[in-house]
Amino acid sequence: VPPVLPAAQQPEFVALDCCPACGSPGGPESGRRGALELHVCSACALVYSDPQPRGIVARRYLEEYDLAAHFHALGRRKKVLFESRLTELPPPRPGREALCDVGCGDGQFLEMARSAGWSGTGIELNPPAAARTRERGFKVLEGRFEELSTDAWGTFDVVTSWDSLEHTVDPAEFAARLARLLRPGGTLALTTLNMPSLAGRVFGTRWSMVAPDHFTYWNEQSLRGLLVRSGLSPRAVHSFGVGRDFFAPLDRVADRFGRRGTDPTGMTPAAAGAPAGARWDVLRPVLWAERGVNRFLDRTRTGVGIAIVAVKE
Ligand SMILES: [Zn+2]
Repeated sequence: VPPVLPAAQQPEFVALDCCPACGSPGGPESGRRGALELHVCSACALVYSDPQPRGIVARRYLEEYDLAAHFHALGRRKKVLFESRLTELPPPRPGREALCDVGCGDGQFLEMARSAGWSGTGIELNPPAAARTRERGFKVLEGRFEELSTDAWGTFDVVTSWDSLEHTVDPAEFAARLARLLRPGGTLALTTLNMPSLAGRVFGTRWSMVAPDHFTYWNEQSLRGLLVRSGLSPRAVHSFGVGRDFFAPLDRVADRFGRRGTDPTGMTPAAAGAPAGARWDVLRPVLWAERGVNRFLDRTRTGVGIAIVAVKE
């Protein structure tokens, strides 16, 4: 995989001709959406964009997007998601409470983890989001994780990375660095997009998650393989979430009544504009129904997101 360059020197498109996760020779084209061309790896089953639209994505995340404002609008929904993710971590113990959140956004998860007893550090490339996390009182390593230098390698008991893996142009380097942050015996917990999800199957390349920002589209096999090659032992995998695409009509109706629901993972302008206090997707009956749906989705591994927990031996 060609190296990551500073935003100003980033070429608009970079051709890979190989799988960015396992390095196998380029697989056949599996679909197109506008200028985006997707391929599937015949060795690890990863779906990935090739060529990679690196220029536009680097400009967005390093210069144009305000991820702090984006996540603020999603705060109440994110709180629900983060609460369940916290329960999937081993509990903090005295002297074993160092947690690093890679792609920490506005620091909301770090703040919730602090309340649960963790001592958190963030890694974030978007300047407004990194600034917001610092305002919350956390140390933040700012910049692209794939090229950061730090003396924090091998010092964390838990490393988390929520919905960030799909945004990196070099997932093999990204995963190797996640593992390197951990001390031996430490735990990694990560979520990303699930390509064989119900939404992925029903909507294909019209799935709202098929976007230039997402360089890779995962499944259980490709994700397990990535972590094993990074020296990690996967312990638990599950999938969750139906996907916003099924609720587009409901979102439109909700808009009219000021209860807009929004894409919990997405970068849609609608999400950024939603009022923080008015959401249908945090209402108690909705959450109750969602738990039932998630049980079915997990049994069939067709949730829109895939979550994995792995241990560094
Ligand atoms: Zn591959």
